[in-house]
Amino acid sequence: MVIELLDKTTIDKIAAGEVVERPASVVKELTENAIDASSTAITIEIKDGGNSFIRITDNGGGIPADQVRKAFMRHATSKIRTVDDLVQIATLGFRGEALSSISAVARVECITKTPEALTGVRYWVEGGKEIEFEEIGAPSGTTMIVRNLFFNTPARAKFLKSGMTEGNHVAHVVEELALSHPEISFKFLSNGQSRLYTSGNGNLKEIIYQIFGRDLTRELIPVDKKTELMSIHGFIGNPGAARANRNFENYFVNGRFVKDRILGKAIEDAYHGFLMQHRFPFTLLYIRIDGTKVDVNVHPSKMEVRFSSQEEIYHTLCLALQNALMQRERIPQVPLKE
Ligand code: ADP
Ligand code: MG
Repeated sequence: MVIELLDKTTIDKIAAGEVVERPASVVKELTENAIDASSTAITIEIKDGGNSFIRITDNGGGIPADQVRKAFMRHATSKIRTVDDLVQIATLGFRGEALSSISAVARVECITKTPEALTGVRYWVEGGKEIEFEEIGAPSGTTMIVRNLFFNTPARAKFLKSGMTEGNHVAHVVEELALSHPEISFKFLSNGQSRLYTSGNGNLKEIIYQIFGRDLTRELIPVDKKTELMSIHGFIGNPGAARANRNFENYFVNGRFVKDRILGKAIEDAYHGFLMQHRFPFTLLYIRIDGTKVDVNVHPSKMEVRFSSQEEIYHTLCLALQNALMQRERIPQVPLKE
């Protein structure tokens, strides 16, 4: 038996497996970067479900030319400096793993320019190797193009599903991102066809209409609650519009789409008595909690969070929803005019 240290390329490819599972995870990571860069408009284009082509264009802060190479290194981030910063994280990213992981298993082209710079940079990496680095003219912001995902990891490529299936996963991720940031305009195109557009004017009903359709939009119950610990803002669906699965329960904690047992339970219990068993409500809730009370560094996918005041969070949410539901019971529902 011989013990050897793995080389960098192998380490990066293995690490990439944790972050990049399919085209949807690439879209999520790159779009989160665009959001963290204070973009006001983000365009997401895919071909073949993202298997062969993904392009994310933003109008955010860009990457300074002398830092582009560094951005693609493992554990390279501009978002935290020490572990203390994790106590109160305001950005979606912080692990410094996405660009290195994605470029380890795909052909990546990055075109970026900061508003201050006169020219931009075009950086090309394939399977973790630099192919080209050149100065070019470009608008301010960043464009990331990801081609041939898993071209150098056949074991992974085998698990990619059809363009149709992967495209649906991407569409779902884009919807979550668009819902999580109503103040950003999102454009999503698949094989050249527009699939989603949000204006970025912050109007929640408009986005709900776009994504979930007219029937649901007509019967929304507003929720607005503020305590010392947290604020809750958004809409919940009429019990009559409940669904057979939890896919319509959307909630965002400090701008991050999460799935959480405590929040899920609070929603379920609030609707208790309003819903039949195995029916789940529509919710679109924006929850803001003091950053020091939320730990997002639980899992690489960052879909899970941990709260330090679980009980209080549960009760506050449950009560806010119950109040909203009861309020609605008291107000006679006037049918909306078309
Ligand atoms: P993280 O987001 O965890 O910091 P990433 O690997 O996703 O790590 O990105 C590395 C760094 O590259 C970021 O910290 C950021 O400074 C820069 N970066 C990536 N994408 C963009 C973008 N679209 N606009 C501006 N800067 C970006
Ligand atoms: Mg990131």
